[in-house]
Amino acid sequence: MSIITNHMPTAELQALDAAHHIHPFSTNADLGRDGVRVITRAKGVFLTDSEGEEILDGMAGLWCVNIGYGREELAEVAARQMRELPFYNTFFKTTHVPAIALAKKLAELAPGDLNHVFYAGGGSEANDTNIRLVRTYWAEKGKPDKNVIISRKNAYHGSTVGSASLGGMAPMHAQGGIPIPNIHHINQPNWWAEGGGMSPEEFGLARARELEEAIQELGEDRVAAFIAEPVQGAGGVIVAPDSYWPEIQRICDKYEILLIADEVICGFGRTGNWFGSQTLGIRPHIMTVAKGLSSGYAPIGASIVCDEVAEVIGNCEFNHGYTYSGHPVAAAVALENLRILEEEKIIEHVRDVAAPYLKEKWEALVDHPLVGEARIVGMMGSVALTPNKEARAKFASEPGTIGLICRERCFANNLIMRHVGDRLIISPPLIITPAEIDEMFVRIRKSLDEAHAEILRQDLM
Ligand code: PMP
Repeated sequence: MSIITNHMPTAELQALDAAHHIHPFSTNADLGRDGVRVITRAKGVFLTDSEGEEILDGMAGLWCVNIGYGREELAEVAARQMRELPFYNTFFKTTHVPAIALAKKLAELAPGDLNHVFYAGGGSEANDTNIRLVRTYWAEKGKPDKNVIISRKNAYHGSTVGSASLGGMAPMHAQGGIPIPNIHHINQPNWWAEGGGMSPEEFGLARARELEEAIQELGEDRVAAFIAEPVQGAGGVIVAPDSYWPEIQRICDKYEILLIADEVICGFGRTGNWFGSQTLGIRPHIMTVAKGLSSGYAPIGASIVCDEVAEVIGNCEFNHGYTYSGHPVAAAVALENLRILEEEKIIEHVRDVAAPYLKEKWEALVDHPLVGEARIVGMMGSVALTPNKEARAKFASEPGTIGLICRERCFANNLIMRHVGDRLIISPPLIITPAEIDEMFVRIRKSLDEAHAEILRQDLM
């Protein structure tokens, strides 16, 4: 068998990749033609590619490498756990120490009475669990028709059939026969794009009240739960106006709707607290977690469930579970990651050092001719690109054209920054230092200037 290694020429690796590897969320024919970048190693906030280039990772992988790359402790814990007990299930009256220890730790860290953990392989699976959890909960309480879950357009909750149905991504719904029945989507609190002539506060209230209208329309006895990301991530780091979340909380309380906070991105320090729900003052019954739970070093997700829901579910046989629910290696790695987050005071670093510094620099980007608004919560930020700031105008080109030009300039300047339509987003590792933030902004500004010149050259302004 021929051995494929980091030392092979990039072109050969690219050719093999194009021949055999189907990439997620990609037009694979284009990738094959253009050639993908081969990432070979990483340390701290920097990636290295097969050409030896050092790339500043402004996205923490996929919003997940919270403690940064290259932490030996996690590798050691994984190896130790693999030697001791590489796998065992938790289905049939058995358990193991990593699953117990991680569940106890999560119960300690999670707010309120979120004291019970159902494990999954990642965020999508955990949200699929949530669909079944809340429907089973109401069925067990004698209300089997209370099975509609309300979500939001442009939300992202995962890629499985269930979680993509919860999500509100139109291009995903256009493929493969989703959403599944009894998922209802209301509008998102994206003031920049959809606020019209309203003030952000008025708009936030109006969008929150769409939840109340939907409940009244569908019937209170039909609605099981509302799910939302505290800050929409993949939708473009959409930060709701301040009026939004208190009104959502009021409505969920009034109508006894279970509130599911999808903390897959916001969890584990990203917003400056352990959970985004704490930053935004939300009291969820269930939280979805993944990504930062293990800082991406091992695939693991979970639903963290409040006492009441766990008690009701506990009285029936919940016919649900994944082979890798509570995988011992992933659980051990997650536990070590939480130890590092806690003992190295990484959340305090975010709150007191990294996030305030990043915010100052990020918000200053509005002086750039392409940037309309700059929003940021903790270590997740976005800018809206616009040809006319006062009018909050959209570009005449196909949505995403300008965002892609900017992203390509970033990539060429060895900075990973993503675009969602014509918004640019960042979500760097939480351990980023002020000096590294300075370096990131040198690259951001250079990329924006080059993109601006290119947009003018192509007459796209
Ligand atoms: N929920 C949210 C808020 C996410 O951002 C993601 C992933 N980007 C998911 C769920 C899905 O998680 P996974 O990719 O681990 O299945």
